[in-house]
Amino acid sequence: PAAGSARESLELKDIFIAVKTTRKYHRSRLDLLLQTWISQARGQTFIFTDWEDRELRLKAGDHMINTNCSAVHTRQALCCKMSVEYDKFLESGQKWFCHVDDDNYVNPRTLLHLLSAFSHSQDVYVGRPSLDHPIEAADHVQSDGSKTTVKFWFATGGAGFCISRGLALKMSPWASLGNFISTAERVRLPDDCTIGYIIEGLLEVKLLHSPLFHSHLENLQRLQGESVLQQVTLSYGDPENKHNVVSVGGVFGLQQDPTRFKSVHCLLYPDTIWCPAKKMS
Ligand code: UDP
Ligand code: MN
Repeated sequence: PAAGSARESLELKDIFIAVKTTRKYHRSRLDLLLQTWISQARGQTFIFTDWEDRELRLKAGDHMINTNCSAVHTRQALCCKMSVEYDKFLESGQKWFCHVDDDNYVNPRTLLHLLSAFSHSQDVYVGRPSLDHPIEAADHVQSDGSKTTVKFWFATGGAGFCISRGLALKMSPWASLGNFISTAERVRLPDDCTIGYIIEGLLEVKLLHSPLFHSHLENLQRLQGESVLQQVTLSYGDPENKHNVVSVGGVFGLQQDPTRFKSVHCLLYPDTIWCPAKKMS
């Protein structure tokens, strides 16, 4: 590049990926992630859970973080985990914070490509909105007892989202060291909505709506063939929605690979030892 315009290129090591999980999903969900995409991004992926599991500790070492948050699906417990994820990211010094759930596949290459378009010192919040309209939350009570409301978009946590360091630092008064939990309690919102509230509602920074992040709230069967490999995150339907998976053929059948994550992984990284050998031509 010309003198003065030397834009340092982003590397995978600049991204902090937080995976939220819980005791009951260590075997059923996390092992699949460790076998697939996490194996390609080990250095930058941290697993946030609520139970000291020796088997997981052996596999993940100090990349498993026991948050000591309670293992229940309540707003408080989920916000407690998000708060620890955020604090660990700030401590890490990395340029980007990305959050995903334990039923997400992350494509490290497309993630890197997406974030390379921005600077980590700008205010960037990117993800998929979970609704097709902004939500409204009552935030503070006026002196006459009436409540003011704010309208904002938020990225659905189940599809994953990313925040630049520049923006994460500005969130600190409402997000760091336990403040996240009090912010969420004040507005009575789940963790991902609270992130949107802080960024759009309080800091007035807009969510960048990206179609490359996916949760099982959408129809995943519509993602087919080559385009599956171009997304940043994928997901799969819960047991009651087993058929809600992305469409990739030719590697493993549905019985062997019900989530399709193994097939996706072998298409992206065909040299993986457990992937079927490439056919000689
Ligand atoms: N989760 C958690 N504690 C719980 C239940 C779920 O931390 O008690 C995590 C889970 O590991 C996942 C996310 O929350 O990363 C969403 O859970 P799930 O996919 O079961 O529910 P969804 O909201 O997507 O239907
Ligand atoms: Mn889920």
